[in-house]
Amino acid sequence: MTSLIQSLHSDRQGGDKLHEECGIFGVYNHPDAAALTALGLHALQHRGQEAAGIVSFDGEKFQSERRLGLVSDNFTKASVIDRLEGTSAIGHVRYSTTGETALRNVQPLFADLAGGGFACAHNGNLTNALTLRNELVQQGAIFQSTSDTETILQLVARSKRGRTIDRLIDALFQIQGAYSLVVLTNKKMIGARDPLGIRPLVLGDLDGSPVLASETCALDIIGAQFVRDVENGEIIVINEGGIESIKPFPQMKPRPCIFEYIYFSRPDSILLGKSVYNCRKSFGATLAKESYVEADVVTPVPDSGVPAAIGFAEHANIPFEMGIIRNHYVGRTFIEPTQLGRQLGVKRKHNPNKAHVTGKRVVLIDDSIVRGTTSVKIVQMMREAGATEVHMRIACPPITHPDFYGIDTPTQDQLLAATHTMEEMKEYIGADSLAFLSIDGMYRAMGYEEGRNNDLPQYTDHCFTGDYPTSLTDREGDEDFRQLSLLQEQG
Ligand code: AMP
Repeated sequence: MTSLIQSLHSDRQGGDKLHEECGIFGVYNHPDAAALTALGLHALQHRGQEAAGIVSFDGEKFQSERRLGLVSDNFTKASVIDRLEGTSAIGHVRYSTTGETALRNVQPLFADLAGGGFACAHNGNLTNALTLRNELVQQGAIFQSTSDTETILQLVARSKRGRTIDRLIDALFQIQGAYSLVVLTNKKMIGARDPLGIRPLVLGDLDGSPVLASETCALDIIGAQFVRDVENGEIIVINEGGIESIKPFPQMKPRPCIFEYIYFSRPDSILLGKSVYNCRKSFGATLAKESYVEADVVTPVPDSGVPAAIGFAEHANIPFEMGIIRNHYVGRTFIEPTQLGRQLGVKRKHNPNKAHVTGKRVVLIDDSIVRGTTSVKIVQMMREAGATEVHMRIACPPITHPDFYGIDTPTQDQLLAATHTMEEMKEYIGADSLAFLSIDGMYRAMGYEEGRNNDLPQYTDHCFTGDYPTSLTDREGDEDFRQLSLLQEQG
């Protein structure tokens, strides 16, 4: 009990940082804009499950509905959708560990600016939001939320430029970090991706109506055609006249986040031309090549470990079986604000399928280890179900560094691989053996024959290497405290 209380306590402290995991969606010039947006957000629900919001525009006024909870619990009723009148709408799903599930942080954020209404949905995390916010507050700005996205709105509002698009560009030049944005004004829908393209954003088309979405699975659900990925550093401006592409930043090599392929995106999405499912299978196959072990059965930790386990089993020529069955009525383990919630979550979520575990040498495959909570429980569960050996294989390299670009990760001291050697991790997890995919293996699985090329960065892989591709302005100096002081809910 004590340890639970202690871990709860420390988790709250560590977890007060603003962690945003989000999905964004927008559709322009369609009679069912809000209903389509609700469907798109439903397909993106894996990117954030605590809150959702939609803003629509009917040619005269904006309507906004922002709710805590799942899209399916809030945006399926005609009464809600009907209120969101208009032929353009943007939406957002969000997960944040700040208490705060507070409604004021739920996006899209909306502001009445000099040029008219401006609604903004943001996926990603800015790394200089605190610094900018402090400056803005000094100048008299009043913030309504603790979201870094509001900094963008404030910068747009204060720009001296005339046209909204120029004001937005002005703002984007001042921010650092990761952002994929969908913006709705009284004339336009705008999509923007940061200069490195860290978080995804795609352009689609539904019978002539342009669509923007975090992932292609959100196009599929509404029957929209995939047009193309929005490029790194690109701004797409959609209005009655058509679609315009603007590239205001100096050209940079894209650094999309590798973790989208490992865990975050849905396996049926195609990111930058690559099937997420196939990438995961390939991680599994490469893992089998790198750390084969004799066993009777390969079992995934469902659901996120499934494609990698298929790849591992195929390559190792060991039968694949669902040795763990998942209860689908429990949310993602990680997406629970406390350590206690997470631990109970694992139990509520998984059960051994004894027919394929008892008396067997089991290779367990998961996509990643963060704190190690899931692995400890699952290995123990396999042993209790009578597995004779349990070998853990992880389809990504050890996570040693936190993410600051929109993926929820705890502080470094809570990352298992940052604080334990391989042998210590094996002991902690209780497995007979433990191996991770190598960094080079990960790149080879993504199609780079030479593995990771330091001279030509292919992805951002900071979680495994500490190679952060942007400055982390807010973290200079007394980093944790400074980050907390901005992002903590005040009272
Ligand atoms: P942990 O139990 O803390 O080691 O977390 C690892 C488990 O959480 C794995 O089963 C992953 O599928 C999942 N996971 C990894 N990264 C994340 C994340 N950023 N958000 C939610 N779940 C995650």
